[in-house]
Amino acid sequence: MKLVIDNVLLPTGTHTLVIEEGKITQVIAESTDQDQIINARQSASESWNAAGLVYLPTLADMHCHLDKHHIGERWIPLEPFQTLESHLAYEKKLLGGLTQTVGERAKVLAEQMIDFGTTRIRTHVDVDPEVGLRNLEAILRVREELCDYMDMEIVAFPQQGLIRSSSEQIVKEALALGADLVGGVDPAGLDGDMERSLQMMFDIATTADKGIDLHLHDGGEPGLATLRRFAELTMEAGLQHRTAVSHAYCLGEQTESDVQPTLDMLKHAGVTLVSSVPIDRPMPRGSQVLDTGVNFMLGSDNIRDAWSPFGNGDMLQRASRMAERENWVSDERLLGTYAWVSNGKLTPSVGDPADFMLVRALNAQHALASVPARSAVFKKGKRIR
Ligand SMILES: [Zn+2]
Repeated sequence: MKLVIDNVLLPTGTHTLVIEEGKITQVIAESTDQDQIINARQSASESWNAAGLVYLPTLADMHCHLDKHHIGERWIPLEPFQTLESHLAYEKKLLGGLTQTVGERAKVLAEQMIDFGTTRIRTHVDVDPEVGLRNLEAILRVREELCDYMDMEIVAFPQQGLIRSSSEQIVKEALALGADLVGGVDPAGLDGDMERSLQMMFDIATTADKGIDLHLHDGGEPGLATLRRFAELTMEAGLQHRTAVSHAYCLGEQTESDVQPTLDMLKHAGVTLVSSVPIDRPMPRGSQVLDTGVNFMLGSDNIRDAWSPFGNGDMLQRASRMAERENWVSDERLLGTYAWVSNGKLTPSVGDPADFMLVRALNAQHALASVPARSAVFKKGKRIR
């Protein structure tokens, strides 16, 4: 199977792409290599004219909850957040009243993400003694069903608190069943014992040889202390480049110089930061994170769930929000933002996986600023949208 796509706009001009066996096998400049293009077309099993659409790599959503949203359900008016404890109880009740199964809802959201060109996600999935492994079993089936469209990492997530909900055992069982990472939430604020909660997470992770992704909303010094201890434990456990902290609002609450030592420790330990780019509170400063060299990725987090009615799973829109929040107006910074929502390159090379999307825009920086509809999405060389 040889697919030839003509008139694809890359940063270096209009090109013809040749795709075979899920990979890009030729990138031919249309201004100079007309003979090569004619040869490629003659031996193609399928050809397509992109008519000047802009090439972008497919997107990654590194923080979502496929099991918790209400998309596909009736509209559910939300109660405003009061305290974490009261909202956790509210969420449990609300999820219990939904009409579709976890698997049905998860698929609805995953399909919507694919429509937006997202082909890689990290989803947290609730596990605790009450919900058991039911949600995880459903998400594992969806992962299997969508494996040609989307790469899915699963975090075993004790939303009600690892210690607080006595979830140590169920998290271990979740990893044995197929979850990829250990989750956790606010070791100090929710579990009430930062050291013991973190130790438990790292013990579970090292025993099972898995990574970690911690939800950290705790602000101020408790938040920063948690990050520093998290970095130390990452080093001690030999889990460099396999651990992440999501949110870490505390990094945006104090001055740049106050948080710099903590950021340096995260960089040294290879801890990734993941943000949903909140606009109603501080978050890690993008430019400071970039200058420090900490690995940074974006995610949707709440999409029409018990916590927020906002969001639709479009990571191009999320990246655009990040750049706008930081007032990144230069081409260099606009283009640099793609690295936080994609592992792919803006200019494909021969041998790259053919995972990309095509959009109507003047160029990639214009696409980041204007968030156009996705005209086509390709995964492993196949058009999936
Ligand atoms: Zn979350």
